[in-house]
Amino acid sequence: MNETLRLGTVAGVRIGVNWSVLVIVALLLVGLSAGRFPLLYPGHAPWLYAMAGAVAAVAFLLSLLAHELAHAVVARQHGVEVEGITLWMFGGVAKLEGEARDASADLQIAGVGPLVSLVLGVGFGAISALAAWAGLDGLALGVLTWLSVVNIVLAVFNLVPAAPLDGGRILRALLWRAHGDRVRAAVTAARAGRRFGFLLVSLGLVLAVFAGQVGGIWFVLIGWFISSAATAEEQHARLQGRLDGVLVSDVMSPAPVTVPADLPVIRLLEDYVLRSRFSAFPVVDTAGRLQGLVTLNRIKQMPPQRRATSRVEDIACAPGEVPQAAPTDRLVDVLPVMARNDDGRVVVLDGDHIVGILTSTDVARAIELAELRPRSAHGSA
Ligand SMILES: [Zn+2]
Repeated sequence: MNETLRLGTVAGVRIGVNWSVLVIVALLLVGLSAGRFPLLYPGHAPWLYAMAGAVAAVAFLLSLLAHELAHAVVARQHGVEVEGITLWMFGGVAKLEGEARDASADLQIAGVGPLVSLVLGVGFGAISALAAWAGLDGLALGVLTWLSVVNIVLAVFNLVPAAPLDGGRILRALLWRAHGDRVRAAVTAARAGRRFGFLLVSLGLVLAVFAGQVGGIWFVLIGWFISSAATAEEQHARLQGRLDGVLVSDVMSPAPVTVPADLPVIRLLEDYVLRSRFSAFPVVDTAGRLQGLVTLNRIKQMPPQRRATSRVEDIACAPGEVPQAAPTDRLVDVLPVMARNDDGRVVVLDGDHIVGILTSTDVARAIELAELRPRSAHGSA
C-alpha cells in the first residue's frame, strides 16, 4: 500500500493515506448521510445528515489511525523500527521494519491495536450514554453510537485468529511462546488467514448472488485481500525458515570495486564499468568512506553528451539513501531494506570499512542454495 499523500508525523511516526481511502470515505458518507442517519433519526435537513456523515467518517479514520499508531508506538518501544502508517481502502497499515525479538513483544505489538479500538468503542459508548442522559439531540447521539459500535466491530474483527489480522499475529505470538518456533507459528497463523479469507469470499458470494446483497462484494474483496496477504506471509515465513542462520557475509560479493566521488562519469564508464563484472559501485571520499552508490541504471539515465563534464557524485544516490548492512546481520532482516530501494543493492560495511555488496542475484542464489540444504529438525519449512 503506497502512500499517495503524506499527512505529517505523529509521535515520530509518518502518517500517510493511499488514494483508495476515498473508497471508505465515500461509502461511509453515502451509507450514513443517505441511509442510516435519515432512517434512524428522521426530520432533519439533508445538509445536517451530510455533516453528521462527514464528522462520523473523519472520526472513524482518526480511530483507525489511533489503532495503527498504537501498533507503531509499541513496536518502537520493542526496538522494531516503523516505516510509517498508511490508511487505505481496507483500513490502516502500520509498516514495521523487521520483527519482534521475542514472543512477548510480538504479542504486545499485535494486541495493543484491538485494545485501543475496544477502549475507543467503550469510550464513545460511554459518551453517548452520558449525552443521552443529558438529553442530547438524536442525530449527534447517532454519530456517537455509530462510532462506538464501529470501533468495537473493528476490535472484534481484528481479533479473528487469522494473519494478517491482529488476531493472527496474536495466535503467532502465542504459538511461538508455546513451542519456541517462530517460523512454524507464522506458517500456522498464515494458513489460518488463508482459510478465513476464503471463508469471507464464499460468504460474500453467497450474500451477493443468493441474497442479492450488494454488501457481499465488500466481503469478497476483504476476503480476497486477507487470503492473498496470508499466502505472501506464509511464503515469507517459509523463506525465513530456509534462510535461518544465513548471514550477510555468507552471501555478499566481497571486496567491491569502489569509485572516487569526484571521478568524471566518462572515466567511470571506461575505467570501471567496462573493466569489471560489477554493475554497482560504492562511491567513496579520499579517506575511503562511503559517499553514495552508483549503478549502471544511473549512468544510463544521464545524456551521453554530459558524461564528460559530470562527476560520479552528480549521479550517485546520496549516502543517506544507500541501504547498508553489517556482515553479521541476518540475511532475512536485510531483505526488506533491499526491497525498498530502487537500486536493489545493499552496501555491506564493517564499521566505516566497505567490505562487500549484496545484490538481488546474491540473494536469489542464497535462496536456491538454501532449498538444496537438508532440512533441519527445527524449521518447518
Ligand atoms: Zn491492528
